[in-house]
Amino acid sequence: MSSNNISTKSSSKDLSGLSLIAAHSHITGLGLDDNLQPKESAQGMVGQMKARRAAGVVLKMIQAGKISGRAVLLAGPPSTGKTAIAMGLAQNLGSEVPFTAIAASEIYSLELSKTESLTQAFRKSIGIRIKEETEIIEGEVVEIQIDRSITGGHKQGKLTIKTTDMETIYELGTKMIEGLTKEKVLAGDVISIDKASGKITKLGKSFTRARDYDAMGPETKFVQCPEGELQKRKEVVHTVSLHDIDVINSRQQGFLALFSGDTGEIRSEIRDQINTKVAEWKEEGKAEIVLGVLFIDEVHMLDIESFSFINRALEDEYSPIVIMATNRGISKTRGTNFKSPHGLPIDLLDRSIIVHTSNYNADEIRTILLIRATEEEVELTDDATQLLTKIGQETSLRYASNLISVSQQIALKRRSNIIDLADIKRAYTLFLDSERSVQYLEEFSNQFVD
Ligand code: ATP
Repeated sequence: MSSNNISTKSSSKDLSGLSLIAAHSHITGLGLDDNLQPKESAQGMVGQMKARRAAGVVLKMIQAGKISGRAVLLAGPPSTGKTAIAMGLAQNLGSEVPFTAIAASEIYSLELSKTESLTQAFRKSIGIRIKEETEIIEGEVVEIQIDRSITGGHKQGKLTIKTTDMETIYELGTKMIEGLTKEKVLAGDVISIDKASGKITKLGKSFTRARDYDAMGPETKFVQCPEGELQKRKEVVHTVSLHDIDVINSRQQGFLALFSGDTGEIRSEIRDQINTKVAEWKEEGKAEIVLGVLFIDEVHMLDIESFSFINRALEDEYSPIVIMATNRGISKTRGTNFKSPHGLPIDLLDRSIIVHTSNYNADEIRTILLIRATEEEVELTDDATQLLTKIGQETSLRYASNLISVSQQIALKRRSNIIDLADIKRAYTLFLDSERSVQYLEEFSNQFVD
């Protein structure tokens, strides 16, 4: 396919990695105030103030377009909200900024090479905001100004209505939506709108002849399109990811491949052509680059080749911000015999802003668990909340959070909608946390296959 017919007929925001989301459905943002300082509990986010403050700074830098080519590493014990913070950041960025979430283990697949998976993840995180000018078509609601000064040929003062809202237009009795005429309505044109049918007739450049008005009858309104208003035609802006453009142009059924997710390897010549085309669009003012966020969870699962790919990719002109999360301390980098902090090679650590998360106190755990309970539409007695909080402190927040839905099922069995102490206890004995599971394995090791 030639670079001239690069198509961009899609605007999907890829969320394939966001199966992680359910556990974070209570999070609607980072919970920051106007000065980007974290509130104790807001937008579903509780505590973890330092890390959230740091995330606020990252947010500001992304919004100012100042962070490309950098990486952020969220490091901390399991269940301390690293993924939650990344999700909160994504929400605060808004839907225009591409956000891609993957777990590092996803790059190991038989169908795609590691570098292809990573390249796709990077290009999903770069948005292209494309501006197109389209003509106004029949039946479309457009922004239009109504100048009453010429209604009926008399100067009656000026009433300017600027709306794309159908209700308002109907209220005004002009029904201009239906017939915005097959002809183009241009600035300075005089059109008449028949109130009953909504039919729009173009009268010409000016309306001066009284007989035109008489011929229309009293139910007709006359509207002069103000200079400059409609001449510009309508500007449509849509944002697609660089990856979407790659896919659409990479094969015959490209567009459908976007839905099936079965995109296969994309040839590097295609990507080169697309890069060139996008650079041209940018030059001509037709497109803007929106650098997004690539979130890589469990980043210690990447190997040395993937890390060196990321290092290089961060130097690209169009690189998204890469946010990585890990719960590992000093550990071996996969594919090497070297140990390093968080299992990341030193050169990548060097370019990363490291943000630590720390364990929660009892109050924070209680608040988070109660938010989760509300999210799952479950009620807990005070005793049950207290026990669940204690379990959260002694095992992990995630385990305690998972017990909520299990306990709910147990409570429902005894026909109660409210979870009580006994339900939590029962759930706790039925489902082991990792520590008890290890104990169990040790006790009964002879019964397991090695
Ligand atoms: P891991 O290292 O095991 O991947 P993590 O640090 O990414 O863990 P999360 O998955 O973010 O931890 O947190 C576990 C659960 O607790 C999730 O449901 C998450 O939404 C919730 N959670 C964690 N921290 C907070 C917080 N500060 N406010 C609200 N909810 C939180």
